[in-house]
Amino acid sequence: MTRERLAYLSLGSNMGNKLYYIVSAIQRINITNGVRVSKISSFYETDPWGVRDQDSFYNIALEIKTTLLPFELLRNLQKIETELSRKREFRWGPRTIDIDIIFYDDLKIGIEELTVPHPRYRDRNFVLKPMYEIYPHNELLLKHMNRDSSKIKKIIPKILVSSCLLGENCNYKGGNNKNNLLIKLENSVSYIPVCPEVMGGLETPRIPAEIKNNKVITKKNSDVTVEFNRGATLALENALENNCTLALMKGKSPSCGLGEIYSGDFTGKLVEGDGITAKLLLKNKIDIIPV
Ligand code: ATP
Ligand code: MG
Ligand code: MG
Repeated sequence: MTRERLAYLSLGSNMGNKLYYIVSAIQRINITNGVRVSKISSFYETDPWGVRDQDSFYNIALEIKTTLLPFELLRNLQKIETELSRKREFRWGPRTIDIDIIFYDDLKIGIEELTVPHPRYRDRNFVLKPMYEIYPHNELLLKHMNRDSSKIKKIIPKILVSSCLLGENCNYKGGNNKNNLLIKLENSVSYIPVCPEVMGGLETPRIPAEIKNNKVITKKNSDVTVEFNRGATLALENALENNCTLALMKGKSPSCGLGEIYSGDFTGKLVEGDGITAKLLLKNKIDIIPV
């Protein structure tokens, strides 16, 4: 097996729901074969660079550990940019997501398709400042800092999250669905944890429930639609009170699932559909990333 190497990435977005695009990119990078995210910087809101007349950016830096070779890594990152609707209309123009390789190990490559270290990182505080938080030899970054006078400020975005993903024992079995990437992201964001089932008045552990004909029915055939609706409303209220634009929700669940949920027959089969809370959040323009 190829040995694992360290690489540093810079991510930026200034179109649509910037937080959604950055967090989606982090998640997709982390599930790429041969890549795992090892460190995540804070989020920064920054002035546009190069072409000034456009919306401000959100930027972060990532440390990754990867067995992919530099060009394989680049191709995988470009695939993620395309999946997240990146279009290139003009140089340094608005983008849903930009993922640049700043360093790949201590390799030096100088061709147009891939230059590492990134040829312009020294002139960009939006790269240097986030990287400074996670890079071990940061005198190198310090040396170049503040050549660029554009505004940059640290922000702590609020994100609604299914409590079970953070390790709370609130799933139907009385266990949790702790997600390592979300735990890593915990230092960079402010989570608003919700469990719609518990908030709706159901106990933990509880009898599993699935959606069938727009109702939520337990395996013992009792109708818990009222509880699921109550929980969804309370989760929405939490999101609105905190001005959340993004929710990280437990996939496939009858409350939090997005795009696919269990069929209603308790056979483990998945069908197209959204959970009760997910549907309500979407209706209220809160984007969802299923985890
Ligand atoms: P900048 O490179 O100044 O940050 P940009 O990120 O907006 O500009 P893109 O349109 O994302 O530019 O990429 C243009 C080309 O840059 C890509 O086709 C890619 O092959 C090449 N490239 C060269 N070096 C790198 C690198 N280190 N990371 C990502 N892309 C790179
Ligand atoms: Mg770039
Ligand atoms: Mg780029």
